[in-house]
Amino acid sequence: MPRGAMIYHCIGIGVGPSNLSLASLLYPYKGVNCVFVDRKPEFAWHDGMYFPGATLQVALFKDLVTLSDPTNPFSFISYLFSEGKIHHFLNAQFDAVPRREFRNYLKWASDLNENVHFGEEVIEIRFDGHFVVETEKRTIRAENIAVGVGTEAHVPSFARKHIGPTQFHVSEYGLRANSLKGKRVAIVGGGQSGAEAFLDTISCDNDLLPKQVTWISRRENFFPLDDSPFVNDYFMPCFSEYFFDKDANFKKAFLERNILASDGISEKTIRDIYQRLYTLRFVEDRGDMPVMMPGRTVDQVRHDGRQWELAVTHHAAGSEEKPVYADIVIWATGFRGHSMPFLAPLAPRLEYEDVEVRIDSNFAAVWDGPADRRIFMLNAARQQRGLAEPNLSLIAWRSQCVIDAMLSGGGGARAAQKRSFVTWQPSHAWSEQQHRAG
Ligand SMILES: Cc1cc2nc3c(=O)[nH]c(=O)nc-3n(C[C@H](O)[C@H](O)[C@H](O)COP(=O)(O)OP(=O)(O)OC[C@H]3O[C@@H](n4cnc5c(N)ncnc54)[C@H](O)[C@@H]3O)c2cc1C
Repeated sequence: MPRGAMIYHCIGIGVGPSNLSLASLLYPYKGVNCVFVDRKPEFAWHDGMYFPGATLQVALFKDLVTLSDPTNPFSFISYLFSEGKIHHFLNAQFDAVPRREFRNYLKWASDLNENVHFGEEVIEIRFDGHFVVETEKRTIRAENIAVGVGTEAHVPSFARKHIGPTQFHVSEYGLRANSLKGKRVAIVGGGQSGAEAFLDTISCDNDLLPKQVTWISRRENFFPLDDSPFVNDYFMPCFSEYFFDKDANFKKAFLERNILASDGISEKTIRDIYQRLYTLRFVEDRGDMPVMMPGRTVDQVRHDGRQWELAVTHHAAGSEEKPVYADIVIWATGFRGHSMPFLAPLAPRLEYEDVEVRIDSNFAAVWDGPADRRIFMLNAARQQRGLAEPNLSLIAWRSQCVIDAMLSGGGGARAAQKRSFVTWQPSHAWSEQQHRAG
């Protein structure tokens, strides 16, 4: 190690909301040196997916910091205030924060924080008593690292070789779907992104409408996101802790059963779609142009020289239907954990749970290195931590757990809030807790 080289307390890899939350909550700790790097040239957050009317799917208090430290200067309310628009925001009476406005807030927070750097991809991380992080530009060293590289677009394997201008993932919608007039469009995937793409394609002025839009979903219907209060308990710290202790089989089945708590379509989007369908068919007399096909799987796609041909299985019939023909295919088939090639030198030293790196109760990877050298994994353990892991709801709390572990061994964030109205734990564990709490 070069003499006098700076050793950071923490290096963050990736600057999406997860690590930006950590960077923001660490900011007031003046004695703590940290740096966060992202490979993107500047801050961006799902920039291909700013559909008109798209909003945040969580409450505005679920920003980078508020649910852990309401006094932190990087809150959404601080953003509104410092930009001189807090009164206007209140008067606007948004039902939910516009997605693009939340993105502007995140960018504001990243611009203000001099510990955050863009245009710097992390290539490799080694360990020699400290973590040695090789970026495109420099070598930096730290006692701890926080991996927050998020997710990447997922397309079924049989379709990957066709990705291009006429067949693309919905994350590229803003870039590629600018002229659908007179075309036949197939959208595959029945979650929020598929719904937003479908609504957008059928909502333009009549003379710009596609010739046909077909929306195909595996789910039996176009189901809403369950945003009700007791379901929102899944997005509280106490539920995350409860879930973390359970066995892998329970967790897997729970995630499948409760998928609509995180991956359903917002009711507003569903209503907007239904009203637009009504208008097209009964008010503007456009026949039944959009075709909605739930309960189907697209098994294959090929180009017959003129058009895309999608092979579709109808679940209830148990057989293939007539193919769907399209000029443009949009895959709204979700996101998967981002690959982490930079961890390769450390990979044999980590423990795994299925495809995830196993984490401890402080979100640190379980590994064979020293206990005071930690690899925090943010938004990389949905199977272990539950539905809230890829969501914004617990990012501030999770960051505080990381800070507590890094600076004092852990515990602070956990003590802060009163327990849920719901008794998730079995009664013996619950009465022990009550007994301890006096
Ligand atoms: C359209 C859309 C809307 C959403 N809306 C909501 C919502 O309303 N509410 C909600 O709770 N959740 C929402 N989500 C879920 C979403 O996953 C989270 O909001 C959030 O983006 C997760 O943040 P993250 O920091 O973990 O990952 P990301 O936002 O994916 O950020 C990861 C960052 O890591 C960087 N990176 C990757 N590899 C490297 C490397 N080797 N070196 C350096 N940098 C690297 C990437 O460039 C990226 O900037 C939405 C998701 C989508 C797709």
